[in-house]
Amino acid sequence: MEDSKTPRNKRKCSFCGRSENEVGFLITGMNGCICDSCSEQAYEITKEALHQSKGKAEELNLKELPKPQQIKEFLDEYVIGQDDAKRYLSVAVYNHYKRLLQKADEDDVEIEKSNIIMVGSTGTGKTLLARTIAKLLHVPFTIVDATVLTEAGYVGEDIESLLTRLLQVADYNVPEAEKGIVFIDEIDKIARKGDNPSITRDVSGEGVQQGLLKLLEGSIVNVPPQGGRKHPEQKLIPVNTKNILFICGGAFPDLEDIIKERLNHQGSIGFTADLKDKYDNDSNLCQQVTVDDLRNYGMIPEFLGRLPVVFALESLTKPMLIEIMREPKNAILKQYEKLLELDEVKLEFDDAALNAIADKAMEKKTGARALRSIIEDYMLDIMYEIPKDNNIGKVVITGDYILKKGAPVIQMRGYETPLIESHE
Ligand code: ADP
Repeated sequence: MEDSKTPRNKRKCSFCGRSENEVGFLITGMNGCICDSCSEQAYEITKEALHQSKGKAEELNLKELPKPQQIKEFLDEYVIGQDDAKRYLSVAVYNHYKRLLQKADEDDVEIEKSNIIMVGSTGTGKTLLARTIAKLLHVPFTIVDATVLTEAGYVGEDIESLLTRLLQVADYNVPEAEKGIVFIDEIDKIARKGDNPSITRDVSGEGVQQGLLKLLEGSIVNVPPQGGRKHPEQKLIPVNTKNILFICGGAFPDLEDIIKERLNHQGSIGFTADLKDKYDNDSNLCQQVTVDDLRNYGMIPEFLGRLPVVFALESLTKPMLIEIMREPKNAILKQYEKLLELDEVKLEFDDAALNAIADKAMEKKTGARALRSIIEDYMLDIMYEIPKDNNIGKVVITGDYILKKGAPVIQMRGYETPLIESHE
């Protein structure tokens, strides 16, 4: 038996039997030694075994899967509003997992894949919804951008590379990746160039849509493990996309015009004159979107046929923006409160401040996306100045501070007063 008392030149690896001078180095244990190459192999075997047991442990079970209502409740914790979208998504995802559980030979009714298209202006929560669902289901999730595929075939990335990221987040565990969710953002950018010359879209869009068909409906796709373009010497990983859920999201600018036109045509002839502007001020016109509207926008019928669930998100209103700032589980205000709490300083935003921030965000027309950068701007000075004075106990961000008409209210430790105009 080898141990630390064995003379160095006599020690051998207890696994491969090679002596110390035949290996890189030996690690000595209580009753034996292991050489560098055996420990490397042991590491690989352990990794593989863990992978397999993880796959088994996470095998789906319908009873354990959250029901649509539970999925929606979970989404409510992170996403403000968007009730319709949450319901569509919850049901689609639940059905998708029912489909995964269906045994191939069980019966002849095959549940079809429920890939999704979400229409909604930028910053309304499309990505957040998809990301939150993936978090709940503990399945690999990735966001890919359709624009990188726009010129596939010459300078863009091969369509199969969409799945590279999914493989990477699944740690190259192919069975795991095969039940993941892929969110394809900016899907409107691969619309076929419309007849309308004022709408300039990429000419190669139609080709990309064609290329995506086989991925969406389910087939075995050879994925380049490092992404980018395929090249002949590269080893490709076959991935079956049959059970991968694809959620496509896009802002579809100008889609309202198409919907408006359809709705106007549905109106009775003769009244068209006063119907023409009937929908002009409807900020949620997109919620009436149909597959036909998307086809008129430039999405090809075969593509739409593989994305049977279509819905739109609502535009964010000012009260929704205020709620987004403070209500979600990881709301931006809670994050800043936490940051200052570490300096033992209490941070509050009064109602006027929240109103002013929401107004500024509305002006930017980028949905809730603008909130963080606006708040960040105002918080920079505070976070720079406050830590230098240990006596500060509380900072109140006021409407005047946001409107650049005054300074934030600073209260010394021991003298903090409850905020009168509290947002509770
Ligand atoms: P997009 O619709 O462009 O995909 P995102 O989902 O990426 O927008 O939203 C951008 C950011 O705005 C998110 O990180 C999130 O913090 C916030 N946000 C957007 N919409 C909502 C919402 N409905 N509820 C809560 N936060 C939201």
